[in-house]
This record gives sequence, C-alpha cells and structure tokens, in this order.
Amino acid sequence: LTERLQNAMSKLRRKGKISESDLKDVMREIRLALLEADVNFKVVKDFVKTVRERALGSDVLESLTPAQQIVKIVNEELTKLMGEEATPLNKAPKIPTIIMMVGLQGAGKTTTAAKLAKYLKAQEKARPLFIAADVYRPAAIQQLQTVAQQVDTPVFELGTNVDPREIVKQGLAEAAEKKNDYVIIDTAGRLQIDEKLMQELKDIQAIAQPNEILLTVDAMTGQNAVNVAESFNEQLAITGVVLTKLDGDTRGGAALSIRAVTGKPIKFTGQGEKLDALDVFHPDRMANRILGMGDMLTLIEKAQEDYDEKKAAELAEKMQENTFDFNDFIDQLDQVQKMGGIQDILKMMPGMNNVPGLDQIQMGPEEMGHMKAVVYSMTPAERQDPDLLNPSRKRRIAAGSGRPIHEVNRMIKQFMESRKMMSKMSNGNFSGMDQMFGK
Ligand code: GDP
Ligand code: MG
Repeated sequence: LTERLQNAMSKLRRKGKISESDLKDVMREIRLALLEADVNFKVVKDFVKTVRERALGSDVLESLTPAQQIVKIVNEELTKLMGEEATPLNKAPKIPTIIMMVGLQGAGKTTTAAKLAKYLKAQEKARPLFIAADVYRPAAIQQLQTVAQQVDTPVFELGTNVDPREIVKQGLAEAAEKKNDYVIIDTAGRLQIDEKLMQELKDIQAIAQPNEILLTVDAMTGQNAVNVAESFNEQLAITGVVLTKLDGDTRGGAALSIRAVTGKPIKFTGQGEKLDALDVFHPDRMANRILGMGDMLTLIEKAQEDYDEKKAAELAEKMQENTFDFNDFIDQLDQVQKMGGIQDILKMMPGMNNVPGLDQIQMGPEEMGHMKAVVYSMTPAERQDPDLLNPSRKRRIAAGSGRPIHEVNRMIKQFMESRKMMSKMSNGNFSGMDQMFGK
C-alpha cells in the first residue's frame, strides 16, 4: 500500500500546478492502492469520494502547492478513517478492571494478554491476574502459564475439566480476595466462528461484565480480519480491537477498514512475538506510516505557518531557472532560521533520515550569521549576479565582512554548486542530494 501511494504522491509532487484530470488520475491510483491493500470496497469508495470532494471544494487546484494540499487531505482522511485519536483502555470505577480477550484461534489472544499485563505493570504498576478460560486448545493453560511467568503475573486455573463459566466465576472471586486491579480473561478461540463458541463467550460476558472486550485479529489476514471483527462485534459488542502481527502485514488493509466497518477503535497493535511488542494505536502515526511520509506533515504545516506561499513559488521558479541569487539566499537563510534550523527541516523530509552524514551538516546560528555578513558585503550587482565575483571582488568582500578569504571562497563555491543542484532537483532529479550537502 505504502509504495503505491507514495508513487502516486510523488508523481503529483513533481507537478507544479495540477489539473482536474491530474486529480482524477491520482484518485484512481489511490483507489487502486487501497483495493490492492485489501481495504474494504465500500470503505475505499467513501474514502475516495471524500478526498475528491475536499480537493475540489477547497481551491486546492488553484493553490500554489496543490500536491502538498492533496497529500495533506489524504493524510487527514486516513487518520479520520482509523478514528482520529488513540483510544485508551476502559477502566472500571472500582477495581478490578476486567478485560476479556476474544478472537479466533491463533489470532494472538494469549500472547496479547501477556503483553497487556506487561504494559499495565510498566504503565501503572498494575497487579493483574490472568484467568485461564481456554480449556479446549491443547496445552493452552500451559502456554498462558509460560508467558505469565515471563511477565511475572499469577494465573488462576482449574485445569481443563471444568466449565469455563465456572472458572471465570471462581477466578473473579480470587481476584476480589487478592485485590488485583486488573483481571485478564484468556478465552478459547475456534478456527471459524461457531454458535457454541459465541454462546460460551456471551455467557462469560454476562458473568464477568467486562469493562473491556478486546478482540484480537490477525492483520495478515486482511479483509478476513475485518469480517471476523464484524461478526464478533455483532454478537458480543466488543469495546476495542487489537490488531496483531502488524509486523508481518505489508498491506495495511485491516488497519484501515476495521474502524469504519465496526465503529470500534483499534486500541493496540501487536508488532512481534516478544512480549514487549505491543503499541498503543495512534491513527495519525499509522496514516503517516502508510503514506511513508516521515513527519512530512509537520513539515508542511510548519512551512505553511512560516512561509509566504508566493515567495515560495517565486523561489521554486528561480531554482528551476537557475536564477537563484544571493538576495534569495539571504531570504532562504531567514526562512530556515524561522523554521528552526536546517537540520530540523531535513530530518522531517521523507527519506532524509537515511541520508548518511546528515548529522554532520553544521549550520548553526553562528555559521548563518557569517554567511549573512559575507552576502551583505557584496554590491547589489554582485548579489544578483554571482558570476561577477572574481578574485579581487572576493578579497574586497572578505575584508568587508571580516571573514577569511578561504571561507568566502568556499561559501561562494558551495552556493554555486547548490544552485546547480537545486535546479536539477526542482527539475525532478534528486540524485545529486549528497553533493548538495558538500559530500
Ligand atoms: P491465541 O490462539 O489467540 O491465544 O493466539 P496465541 O497468543 O497463541 O498466538 C498465536 C501465534 O501468533 C503465536 O505463535 C504467537 O507468538 C504469534 N503472535 C501473536 N501476536 C503476534 C504479533 O503481534 N506478531 C507476530 N509476529 N506474531 C504474533
Ligand atoms: Mg490462546
């Protein structure tokens, strides 16, 4: 999903202005990307419609940065689709908070129960108790005991010959007596949803009155995970979803559809078999991950706050035409300073985290001040036409700015190279990135 969406987005970014038919193309790409990722058909349809309407309705096409605007809309709508905000666990007004794990066999109930206990212990020094209510799967109790030991949490169990309803009743009495603040009930699953399983779960629900019914679904099963979530929700009124095995899911379809289809929030994601591989689910971060944008959005927002759009467009044009001069350079330096420094900006750009040597670019306030001094020692003609800068002019500038001649030379050389690079980049060639940063 990520790759396909990214392609669509970067195609769009390369264009300055976009037409209605460009928009149509990109919406088609987005639709295909989502369908390929196994996102629910109806969800895709609504999503594409909303994005399109927003894009058409908000003068996006007339704006100077239409591509960014559309990326932003897509990102916001993806976030909305997944529920906007992280949803915390429900808590009982008085202890214990009862969490019932439900889901198909192999979805990750037992593993997630242990991860949750570990999480709660770390977060709030909780003292949970597990109730072993899976009496069907061979060695289920033993498995729970093994992981429980790893997270240092007791297990209430009565073996496999007692009815799970009875086990839950007695387990709750035990928790009351021991004053556990959380009870996590590990129930049985089936390979398929069936009547008998659902009845058992409904009975346990009636007995335990859980504050939280967490459905675990396997992200790797895509659309099927969504169907499972839908039927469990119909029968049990689940309160949240844990999307497990997200570490193995490259498509992201389940993450995107579950909320829209069930109306229930994804509360956690499982990111591996280890017991610390549990993450609180943040819709916005997931949207970023799907779009592969790093913190691109923060960057766009920052730019929008601080940057005069018209100026930005002028600069872009100048870069493209290779007429970027020292006056623009000073403008740029000021903008960069306002936005918090060059490194902060670079770090937020997608893919830039991986550029080697990024942390070696030193351009603090002092260096920027030196650069400005050098530029201010140029005549207006020199600023506009850096090609005028011959050795004697450079010596004069060095004297005027109080900077050593080699520094002036280096700075002018870097400026000329950057200018070339910017022109290449704004014409769609990014391969010179390393050179631009003086590597
Ligand atoms: P249950 O039948 O629902 O209780 O599922 P289990 O907790 O026994 O998990 C089934 C398998 O999935 C086990 O091998 C787990 O290690 C594995 N598993 C559970 N959660 C995750 C996860 O988030 N990522 C990965 N990669 N494996 C997981
Ligand atoms: Mg289990």
